Amino acid sequence: MKTISLIAVVILFVLPPDLPEILFADASTIPPGSLFRQSAARKLEREFAPCAESSEPTSQKCRQLSRVSFLLLDARTGTVLASQWPNPEAPIPLGSLVKPITALAYGERHQFRYPTHICRGAKSGCWLARGHGKVELTTAIEYSCNSYFRMLTAEMTSADIAPLAVSLGLRAPDPGASPIALAGIGVDWQNSPLRMAAAYLELVRRREQPGVRQIVAGMGQSAEHGTGAEVDRALGRADALVKTGTAPCTHAPRAPGDGFVIALMPASDPQILLMVREHGVPSTQAARTAGMMLRRIVE
Ligand SMILES: [Zn+2]
Repeated sequence: MKTISLIAVVILFVLPPDLPEILFADASTIPPGSLFRQSAARKLEREFAPCAESSEPTSQKCRQLSRVSFLLLDARTGTVLASQWPNPEAPIPLGSLVKPITALAYGERHQFRYPTHICRGAKSGCWLARGHGKVELTTAIEYSCNSYFRMLTAEMTSADIAPLAVSLGLRAPDPGASPIALAGIGVDWQNSPLRMAAAYLELVRRREQPGVRQIVAGMGQSAEHGTGAEVDRALGRADALVKTGTAPCTHAPRAPGDGFVIALMPASDPQILLMVREHGVPSTQAARTAGMMLRRIVE
């Protein structure tokens, strides 16, 4: 007993007095409040403004930024703080960004019990040729596993999703929409980027609810090591919730596809939502751009 107290006393003197704060501090250094949200908007505008003024961007950085559309929302109020996105109200294909909506609609009809699935890659219709192996809902969101969502939507119809989609301000899938459209593959279920961003804010507000809990956990894991891993890498710490998507390009000049990212930060109590579309690149690359933009915001 004496030895234990002696060790405790020694440790108390050896450890710096502020260690508990260091150990238990939130990983995020972002101060909550409207000042941060306003300065985030100013920093992004400052980043894009010099390039927007020249119609023929010459620098490499401006050429890259010219491929980027973005919306920055106040996560508390849904207010658009900054945007560079022509017609953000117009519905376009958003790829796998619909997966969380589909997953929640499935849960509502199945007592929030989600199946486990073996993704066999190309053989089971996944974008990752070698497959994701054993997948449950959280990992399916983390890796945006098409095989899992093909399985989940095999028996679903538009009517299963319509009430939830509409309650979140989204469009219902067309009545004849195929199961793969409900899984976020193809162009048949289109949504306005602005409304999709707002729907994610509502999802994150419901993060303690069944189904949503696993989805939000999957978004945290996506930023750490899934399809959104470039976001945390650019930030230098695990501090975001991310969902990625790739969809056919809908604007000029045409490219095969555009990468989409929705990122909320900080992960524990989001202050801002950044939605990015990068022209002609896969979503994992768009995640890198979103991560760089978020890093600029917190710098
Ligand atoms: Zn897969």
